[in-house]
Amino acid sequence: MNWEDKVRRVEPYVAGEQPGGEGVIKLNTNECPYPPAPGVIRALERIRADYGRLRLYPDMHAQKLVNALADYYHVRPSQIFVGVGSDDVLALAFLTFFNGKEPILFPDITYSFYDVWAELFRIPYRTCPLDENFRIRKEDYFQANGGIVLPNPNAPTGVEETVRALEEIVAASPDSVVIIDEAYVDFGAASVLPLVERYRNLMVVQTFSKSRAMAGARIGFAIADEKIISYLKDVKFSFNSYTMNLPAIEMGTAAVLDDAYFRETVGKIIRTREWTKGEFARLGFRFTDSKSNFLFAAHERIPAGELFAALKENNIYVRHWERPRIDNYLRITIGTDREMGRLVSFLEKYIKERGND
Ligand SMILES: *Cc1c(COP(=O)(O)O)cnc(C)c1O
Repeated sequence: MNWEDKVRRVEPYVAGEQPGGEGVIKLNTNECPYPPAPGVIRALERIRADYGRLRLYPDMHAQKLVNALADYYHVRPSQIFVGVGSDDVLALAFLTFFNGKEPILFPDITYSFYDVWAELFRIPYRTCPLDENFRIRKEDYFQANGGIVLPNPNAPTGVEETVRALEEIVAASPDSVVIIDEAYVDFGAASVLPLVERYRNLMVVQTFSKSRAMAGARIGFAIADEKIISYLKDVKFSFNSYTMNLPAIEMGTAAVLDDAYFRETVGKIIRTREWTKGEFARLGFRFTDSKSNFLFAAHERIPAGELFAALKENNIYVRHWERPRIDNYLRITIGTDREMGRLVSFLEKYIKERGND
């Protein structure tokens, strides 16, 4: 017997690289290319002016942030749970709600943290294949299950599912919790939030990392029936009560209060995305009709692995997975107009100079 036989061994999630340095165009982890709302700096300045507050534990309920979100989304504060990024919220939700005997369900092509958490917590799971257009087949989810998790829009495809189809899935599994991961919903997809009042088994998860330009602050949240939130809090307070730090709570609150800046930033990203789609079509790419802040694209002639390497060589970082069904696709985050302009001109030149095989 050896101590290593007692180790909880896991295969960790692999995040995109965080390259540093001058001249890097970073389009590989779906961050926002614009800074957070100006109110966020003012919040930091207030913390600086009164930094002695850091002696104290933060409010473990992050009530200020919860109240701001409750006002913004027109729900009761008791329907909101906040955490250290939506990864924290999702992991706690897996631990809390996916404790049945039946396997939980999620798509074969999806956010690659779901199977990592399932393995970590020893949750049985079954993946349901997307169709040839990367759409969810809703009937796949009309079977006995221990829970369901679906991102909408899906990652890394950017494909949006209709609220009606998601509602059918939620309605068909009243005895399981259904999590809709809306990490990208602000970029033009319809949210299932209005369904929370009607379905007590529905949990909606969102994040400040993408549309609110605050991946570095680590803020995510869930909105659901009070009972769901209360079970989630029981597990959280059995694990680590003080996860969200004071600056994050203050900065997150400031971000929620500045709706005009939020809309402006998201609007810019959507316009840049649609411009990029036009250019990609011209260059011979096929891609999904992404409703997120990234494109999921394959070139008609040139393998994705080759383009990925050529781009990286030129300091343009995108994402590529050596996985069945998606190994010929690149996932490209929408950056500023200037960054996307440089990406497009690089690709145009590369494709022209390379010629045909
Ligand atoms: C980015 C992302 C998240 C989590 O992001 P956090 O930074 O932890 O909030 C969750 N789900 C999906 C599908 C994502 O793409």
